[in-house]
Amino acid sequence: MDDATLSAPRPRKKTAAPAAPAKVIPAKVKPAQVTPAQVKPAQVKPVKVKPVKVAGANTTGAKATRAKSAPPQGAGVKSAPARGRRAKNALLEVAGAAATGAEVTRGDVVGGAAGIAGESAAPAVPSGAIAAALLAWYDRHRRRLPWRAEGGRLGDPYHVFLSEIMLQQTTVKAVGPYFTAFLARWPRVADLAAAPLEEVLSAWAGLGYYARARNLHACAKAVVARHGGEFPADEAALLDLPGIGPYTAAAIAAIAFDLPASPVDGNIERVVSRLYAVDAPLPKSKPRIKALAAALTPHARPGDFAQGMMDLGATLCTPRSPACVLCPLCAPCLGRAAGDAARYPVKTAKGEKPARAGIAFLAVRADGAVLLRTRPEKGLLAQMTEVPSTPWSAGVPAPGDHAPLSAGAKGWRALPGRVSHVFTHFALELEVWRADLPAATPAPAGHRWVLPRDFAGEALPSVMRKVLAHGRVPGA
Ligand code: SF4
Repeated sequence: MDDATLSAPRPRKKTAAPAAPAKVIPAKVKPAQVTPAQVKPAQVKPVKVKPVKVAGANTTGAKATRAKSAPPQGAGVKSAPARGRRAKNALLEVAGAAATGAEVTRGDVVGGAAGIAGESAAPAVPSGAIAAALLAWYDRHRRRLPWRAEGGRLGDPYHVFLSEIMLQQTTVKAVGPYFTAFLARWPRVADLAAAPLEEVLSAWAGLGYYARARNLHACAKAVVARHGGEFPADEAALLDLPGIGPYTAAAIAAIAFDLPASPVDGNIERVVSRLYAVDAPLPKSKPRIKALAAALTPHARPGDFAQGMMDLGATLCTPRSPACVLCPLCAPCLGRAAGDAARYPVKTAKGEKPARAGIAFLAVRADGAVLLRTRPEKGLLAQMTEVPSTPWSAGVPAPGDHAPLSAGAKGWRALPGRVSHVFTHFALELEVWRADLPAATPAPAGHRWVLPRDFAGEALPSVMRKVLAHGRVPGA
């Protein structure tokens, strides 16, 4: 698909009241304001990094250099932990105010680099400078993604909506082909709204979490019915659409409409919790992290800021090995200064998921057709296609009368091994029993025979594809 079809970018609107350009003076963001006492030597290798223009420099002509991570020598520091605490307290003062609803103006001082640096007292880094550094980095290192508009233009709201729904609980790599296929088949939100739900579910098959596909379809219909096929440029109106939660509403508002909204996904959550060294565990700390992210969001280019934070989390501030020496937020980052950035975000230990089990009855005719049926309209995997099975319960249930038909003289036979699949709330193990039947065998009520070449037209979820593969059905 060509870029024009994919992006259909719109010019960025002029912001009514743009934030004042961050006046970043090189000395203020000069990094390496971390003492040896605070950072483990192994994590702070001196590296030469090319100077990077900080966003404010685009308008002011000023330049700032990216953090060199070599700590300054001879700082004469006596109580690094105490200063670290003071700096953190200063940061969290703003955070606390934000989290409790007290007024926090974007641009307030939130950085604690000075306090961390010691008595040489470089000034604190304002949130405007943090946003400017992040935007400058984003302008150089942004990921090219099929749903992103290029050339400083705003994304298409439909593309942002589609990609954000698909990306929930799924990787960018997995979503790419689905996004392209959906857009080729349903180029406008009105096309998606007019499509039968079964076709949408079938096209979604393999992405998992099928409730999202139903919500996607319901939302497209609502956009057509309530807004004439145009997404509203208003976060509250977006939130009012079916299937759109606070995150997606904020993402569309910021990325497609350049509104000062603050979406917080897993990547942004990680970056912010490290930047401020948020010690409270998730999920309790979510409101505070959201407030911190909102306080950081600039009035100018909020969508790029959100995408920059997402990209930073995906490429540098990764879960296990944050590449702090390359990070544009290296200087003010408290998690980095504490020498243990990877411990953030702190998480509450999860209990094991409950286990369920069942038996899938894989009936295969001599012509290769497989017996399938459609799941009920409500509940898990609603309206998806399945291989008939017993209910999924705490222990392996007795086959009882759950087999969909008689397997004749040969009977049902249990195949070796089991199919494992993990859902959001439980882990499933399925035994697969197979029966091979004559080509003329009729389908029982509520079931249908489907040839492997027609599987593409069925909304087969991943767990059912695993069952078919386990039973060595070609084309599964
Ligand atoms: S932990 Fe490292 S990579 Fe993450 S925001 Fe802080 S300095 Fe950047």
